[in-house]
Parts: sequence; C-alpha cells; structure tokens
Amino acid sequence: MLLNIIAPMKTIYGLFCMLVFLGSCAGTDKDSNSSKSGEDHTSNPETTESVTVYSHRHYDIDKEIFSAFEKETGIQVLVKEDKASKLIELISQKKDAADILITVDVARLNQAKNKNILQPIQSDYINSRVPSNFMDSDYMWFGLTKRYRVLAYSKERVNPVDIKNYTDLAQPKWKGKIAVRSSGNTYNQSLMASVIANSDQTKAETWAKSLVANFSRSPKGNDRDQVKEVAADRADIAIINTYYLGKLLNSENEQEVEAGKSVGLIFPNQENSGAHVNISGIGVCKYAPNKDNAIQLIEYLLSDKVQELYSAANYEYPIVKDIPICDLLQSWGSFREDTIALEEIGQLNTAALEVFARAGWE
Ligand code: FE
Repeated sequence: MLLNIIAPMKTIYGLFCMLVFLGSCAGTDKDSNSSKSGEDHTSNPETTESVTVYSHRHYDIDKEIFSAFEKETGIQVLVKEDKASKLIELISQKKDAADILITVDVARLNQAKNKNILQPIQSDYINSRVPSNFMDSDYMWFGLTKRYRVLAYSKERVNPVDIKNYTDLAQPKWKGKIAVRSSGNTYNQSLMASVIANSDQTKAETWAKSLVANFSRSPKGNDRDQVKEVAADRADIAIINTYYLGKLLNSENEQEVEAGKSVGLIFPNQENSGAHVNISGIGVCKYAPNKDNAIQLIEYLLSDKVQELYSAANYEYPIVKDIPICDLLQSWGSFREDTIALEEIGQLNTAALEVFARAGWE
C-alpha cells in the first residue's frame, strides 16, 4: 500500500525537479521576453528574434518547454495549434506562415513532404540524436517522441498469454470484444500500414475484415474512450497508444484513474516484428522566415532534459537513445519495437486507407 503511494509521489517529485530545472535554465535578464507561447500571434515590439510553430500537439508540457526555450535563447516562440491536416493546408496556402510543423504521427509528416512544404535540414546534432529509422531519408522530418500502439486488456477477463500478436485480434474468440477508434484516425492508419509492411495488402485486408467482425461497437471516440469501454465491461481489449494509459492513471478524474487501473498492456509481436511504433515529429517549412531559429528549437527539443520531460510529463518514449524514462514507463518493462523505417509507414498510408475501405472499418 505504502509502495503504491510512494511511486506516484516519486514521479511527481521527479517532474517537479525537472520543471524547476527547466526554469533554472532560464536567464534572469529582466529585459528578456516573457513567454508568448499560445495562440497569440501578436508580435512583441522589443523582440527581434522569433520562430513560428504550427503544432498538432496539444499538451500543456509543450508550453512549458517553449517558454523555457524563450528564456534561454531570447527567441520568441509563436504557436498555432490545430489538426495537422488543417495546418498543412494553411502552410500550403500562405507559404511563409510557419517555420516549423509538428505532427503527432508519421503519416502527416509524409503528407507534408509530398505537398512540398518542408525543406531538408542538415544538422550533425539532429542526425546524432534521432535514429535513422525515425527520420526522413531526405532529412525533411525527424521524430521527437515515440508512442507504441498496444493492446489494453481487462485484467479481470483476459489472460494476457492468450493474445500475443496484432493478428490474434482477428481470432473468433474475441467476437464483440475489441474496442478501437475509427479508421479516420492516423494512429490506426499507421498501424494498418505496418501490418501491410510486415505481410502484404491482401493479408492485411483478410485480417482487417475478421477484426471488424470482432468490434464491440461501431468505432467512435478517442483512445481513452476505448479503455473506458473495457473498464465498463463492454469490451475486453482496446487498441491504444501507450501514453493514453499514463494520462488516465494520472487523471484528476477518479473514474478515469479507475478505468486505467482496470487494464494491463500487451506489447504485441514480441516474437516477430515487434510492437508498432509511431512518432510525434517535426520538420522545417520550405519557406520558413526564421530557419536558423527553427533548427535551434528542434535541437533544443532533442536535448536530454526535454527528451526526459516528454516521458515524465506526457508518458511518451524519448526518441533519443538512453534517456531515462519515468517510473510508469519503466513499469511496462522492456520490449521489442518494430524497426521498419517510419518513412515506409508514412508512404503506405494510401494502401492502409484502401484496406480500411474494403474491410468496412468505419
Ligand atoms: Fe494522441
């Protein structure tokens, strides 16, 4: 019982120390610009340096990180948050609107590259921090964090040894038991792309048809909602990204905490291809007015302290190797991840959409 209390306290204390550390990185120069992160695009007349970030990330910790960057460098960070598809459209229309695009999955990074709104970046530091399978081969985009698409199973009703692979989700015994969001969601699209990459489109379609037959309901909601379906005994297995379990377990809503506690995680495909991994990633826009500042910000986001914070505050896995991860992620243990180049996953997005359409995955 005491251990149960100490573990979250340690996490909170560690997070507090890191936030203090981020704060201490900030200069004490009273004339330096205060944080302007957020939706505000109003320029500060005292500011000469800035970087404009168009981001699909919507996490509070990003604001803290941008604020610390501003204080450390004097470069103002202007942030516009929206869905990646919308941001890509905006950048396509007004080419010099943004310096940086940040997405929460690889499919949109590949889409941005194909729309010719990114530019190649050569940085020895970035190349030394991001493993080659998590960056574009033309250096158009780079991973910032990793998230695994895994199986959250009911601790009450499922024996985790009964399901080892994504393909097992198609077994008849799971009829009416699988909760997952819609095929319009890019996390699912990239998962399907990985299934295609590891077999072929025909086999992926056969799998998808059987999986659709096992759905507990028509796909709807976000990943957290799927876990709540399991907690409410309306499904036994939910397909989710890892960090959503961290968000549930650390929610201020007691029902969400209970939903999180009711499930365990299975990292699939441990005896073959490894668990499917996706990235939140970043690229410099082709007509970026502040390219040097953009590169400086990317390098900052790949620093040890920020990489550790992505894990401690948002339960994501660092993209940089050998960065300490938070207690919760440590508790999930080590596992094999799919080593396929994320670029290939992005390129198979259209093939994945075709499979969804033919399989009737709404
Ligand atoms: Fe997400």
